[in-house]
Amino acid sequence: MIIGIDLGTTNSLAAYMTEDGPKIIPNRLGNNLTPSVVAMDKDGNICVGETAKEMMYADPTCAASVFKRSMGTDKEFYLSGKRFKAEELSSFVLRSLKEDAEALLGEKVEEAVISVPAYFNDFRRKAVKRAGKLAGLNVERIIAEPTAAAMAYGLYKEKRDIKAVVFDLGGGTFDISILMYFAPILEIHAVAGDNFLGGEDFTKVIEEMFLQKCDLPVNIADNADDRFVVDLYKEAERCKRAITDTDRYKMSVKKGDKTYTAEITRTDFEKECAGLYERLKVPIRKALSDAKIKLSEIDKVVPVGGATRMPGIRSFLAKTFNCFPDISINPDEIVAVGAAIQAGMKERNDSVKEVILTDVCPFTLGTEVSVRYSEFKYEDNHYCPIIERNTVIPASRTDEFYTIRDHQTKLDITVLQGESRIASENLTLGHIVVPIPDNKAGEEGVKVTFTYDINSILEVEVTVMSTGKKYREVIKGIETDMTDEEIDKRFEELAYLKLPPREQERNRYIFARAERLFMELVGMDRERLENYVRLFEAALDSGDEGEINYKRSRLEEVMDEFDN
Ligand code: AMP
Repeated sequence: MIIGIDLGTTNSLAAYMTEDGPKIIPNRLGNNLTPSVVAMDKDGNICVGETAKEMMYADPTCAASVFKRSMGTDKEFYLSGKRFKAEELSSFVLRSLKEDAEALLGEKVEEAVISVPAYFNDFRRKAVKRAGKLAGLNVERIIAEPTAAAMAYGLYKEKRDIKAVVFDLGGGTFDISILMYFAPILEIHAVAGDNFLGGEDFTKVIEEMFLQKCDLPVNIADNADDRFVVDLYKEAERCKRAITDTDRYKMSVKKGDKTYTAEITRTDFEKECAGLYERLKVPIRKALSDAKIKLSEIDKVVPVGGATRMPGIRSFLAKTFNCFPDISINPDEIVAVGAAIQAGMKERNDSVKEVILTDVCPFTLGTEVSVRYSEFKYEDNHYCPIIERNTVIPASRTDEFYTIRDHQTKLDITVLQGESRIASENLTLGHIVVPIPDNKAGEEGVKVTFTYDINSILEVEVTVMSTGKKYREVIKGIETDMTDEEIDKRFEELAYLKLPPREQERNRYIFARAERLFMELVGMDRERLENYVRLFEAALDSGDEGEINYKRSRLEEVMDEFDN
């Protein structure tokens, strides 16, 4: 069985294909979403998901989160002093999802289709594949998140040509993609976004509204005592979700001995968000202009990400694109559903037909050139784009380059990736040095062809024009890329770091949550919590199933009471 995985910044989840369509795989605690958080406990066990998240609240030094952003970079994260790269942390999340899938399906799961943001470059996509390998998963195919979302909405089943927008507003980032479907091809034509705009900014608007209504300085959230800042954030988040369903919510936050209250209405909230809606329009305009299509041409709007649940966002979408967003699939699950459909297609499952997918190259690929300023003066370090960002792939482009000195006997073609005008500020993917016949400056030249394919492999072909001699190189990645042997070795090392058995997860989660609450509470509340923990521990020692279940429920009830 091949499963589909949405390896998210905040949450991850897996899905698989059945005769009746895609199904989400619940995790060991019975939840669909597994927080993308990894922690290490005192005994060196690796914890993933809800348990790790609780451990992170209690002790941030034992856990790591938002590591997806660092995939394919050398950034290191420390869990209880032990060092990990983003792809290694991701591999623990993937391992946990794999185990959950195996428990549900009752069979070994060794293959997966994993989604990545459309703008993930080659290194980051490779890092995701390595993370899969470290988790014991063969990553058959990487799928762009907007492609997955469009697949989930069955764009590939449409009889007519469709131009669609995938609008992905998560907690901290905003991505917009323009897709075109001309049967049987689903293409991403442009991607744009804002890495500093997401649902959290809307929560911040509510915090500010509350502070203003309570006559507290709005910058208090930056410098007030921690407890108040945390409570204000939690209450603002609760309010934001509440006014998704109702038209008003009464917020109440304690500061020292005083309790502040204020009512927030949906109408006022939406007015205050005007600035955020304006910011959303900037990448939308950019993506449409890159895709060379008009707003009025959009047939379908696909919302992705928890923040698109907000009614304000839905009406913003309807107004902007003049069509109602399709909201029949849970916006948190849509990408995993699409990945599962793709996985199903890989297996040639009968319920979905094969579709040819294409993508865009999310970054520019080019080479370094010298630019001539006068008869004698050349300036090095200029970037010459060959395949422009947002070019539909597979793509192949050719450019010509000539010698700049008499008797020049070689040409060094540097393969670069990036958007900077200055060559050295872009990422170097490789070099091809080709011998050139001895001749006068400008008399000899090469044709350079870049071919970038759907599997993120770049092939560079250099043809010396005067001789017709060809040189070819396949760009596999940076020198720090791990070899297969290195991956295998690291796989063995990480395998020592065990994920505790799935059956123990519920209790581990409860203890982690109790520990976090114990740190947050004071006085009588703390004592009360401790009593319930002791009773639960005693029940565990007794081994009596009925007693364990009863004491566990009581402890959970008390913890819910404190958390609410
Ligand atoms: P994601 O990164 O896709 O999980 O998105 C998380 C964001 O969605 C957070 O900012 C949440 O506050 C927001 N979110 C989730 N559910 C709701 C809801 N019912 N109403 C408003 N915002 C929500």
